[in-house]
Amino acid sequence: MRTALVIGAGIAGPVAAIALQRAGITPTVYEAREGTADERGAFLTLQVNGIDALRTLGIGRVIEAIGFATPSMRFRSGTGKVLGEVSTGAALADGTVGVTLKRSDLYRALGDEARRRGVTIEHGRRLVDVRPVPGGVRAEFADGTTAAADLLVGADGIRSRVRQVIDPEAASARYVPVLNIGGFAPPMDVDGVRGGYEMVFGKRAFFGYAVAPDGTVWWFANPPHRSEPAPGELSALGTAHWRARLDELFAGDRTPARAIIDATPGELEVRATYDLPSVRRWHRDRMVLIGDAAHATSPSSGQGASMAIEDAVELGRCLRDMPDPDAAFAAFERLRRSRVEQVVADGARSSNVKTAGPVARVLRDALLPIFLRRHGDRAATWLHGHHIDWDAPVTVNAGAGIG
Ligand SMILES: Cc1cc2nc3c(=O)[nH]c(=O)nc-3n(C[C@H](O)[C@H](O)[C@H](O)COP(=O)(O)OP(=O)(O)OC[C@H]3O[C@@H](n4cnc5c(N)ncnc54)[C@H](O)[C@@H]3O)c2cc1C
Repeated sequence: MRTALVIGAGIAGPVAAIALQRAGITPTVYEAREGTADERGAFLTLQVNGIDALRTLGIGRVIEAIGFATPSMRFRSGTGKVLGEVSTGAALADGTVGVTLKRSDLYRALGDEARRRGVTIEHGRRLVDVRPVPGGVRAEFADGTTAAADLLVGADGIRSRVRQVIDPEAASARYVPVLNIGGFAPPMDVDGVRGGYEMVFGKRAFFGYAVAPDGTVWWFANPPHRSEPAPGELSALGTAHWRARLDELFAGDRTPARAIIDATPGELEVRATYDLPSVRRWHRDRMVLIGDAAHATSPSSGQGASMAIEDAVELGRCLRDMPDPDAAFAAFERLRRSRVEQVVADGARSSNVKTAGPVARVLRDALLPIFLRRHGDRAATWLHGHHIDWDAPVTVNAGAGIG
């Protein structure tokens, strides 16, 4: 039986391990973190195409207990004017819509499901290098240990070490000039339907929130930030600074942003935003990249997790049907590259819209309603309507001509 080392137990890693196992390959997952992820204020929305891809592997139920339905997003200007509404994807046949969940819960649920299926996940194992060995690869970890297998899957996120090993000149993450700050406020009286996102293009910054079934308000803010912060710079400013900054940014807007942020207890985590538009080599020898390691989209697209899951499923199909890793990886890239790069480009456009200056803002508020109507229709088909048929055989020409 073939074996694989999967690097990273975020989203792509555990799903890839499950897909590889179904493809007749024995995976072992290596994760740098010592324990489960605990990222303050970090949540994400899994859109219907991502949920559909999980169901392809029979693991759709893992998110049932941890998420809440978020079928739509309503956009407003800072004056309170409604600019439009889009769905997070047409409901699946059984009525399932997009869900919002905490990142740490999603990591844990996917990891638990992989373990339940007999996959070994080793924590505290940070990959530092990979070397070819006859008929396979040998991974080297920061703790001095090694592991060998027939294949290696780099699911190690936007700062991927595997990407550098495959191509030392590979593109690195591109700074997107908005910050991300998020949190959870206790139940309070705010505008908005339970489960629906309210998104506000404020005069000086973007603010989004959704009211969970228990009444808590899950929110995020995207203050513009022109130049890339140095490591540690944002956190060094401290929570009091960021609370004051958000208060000032949202002061002129007709939104509950200030009240929500004020009601949020504890420290705020502030992150810079990055994407990764095009990585020239996705595979070499017996190594391949999936998820954010190969193509990261700015959070504005709401699709990074779904793309990571789709990748993992497609990689499993390719390796199932093509014993030669090179052929399988090439087919995988043909199936995936144009789709994911389109998502990254759309995400970058959405991020730019959030940083408009005074003139661009007027144009944006006039044109956005038209864009949202068009984008909503287009996204419904090529993006949200994407379905992977696990049983369909992958052929040598898989994906050729997709564009
Ligand atoms: C603020 C924010 C909001 C977002 N919102 C959304 C959203 O609403 N919807 C959505 O779909 N996506 C969203 N995303 C994007 C989404 O989080 C990513 O696309 C997704 O996590 C990618 O999954 P992944 O498994 O490829 O990478 P990751 O989730 O980053 O997982 C990579 C894993 O690899 C591990 N690792 C890294 N290096 C090594 C190493 N050398 N050795 C071993 N392990 C290693 C890491 O510890 C991590 O566990 C958001 C992202 C951010 C930052």
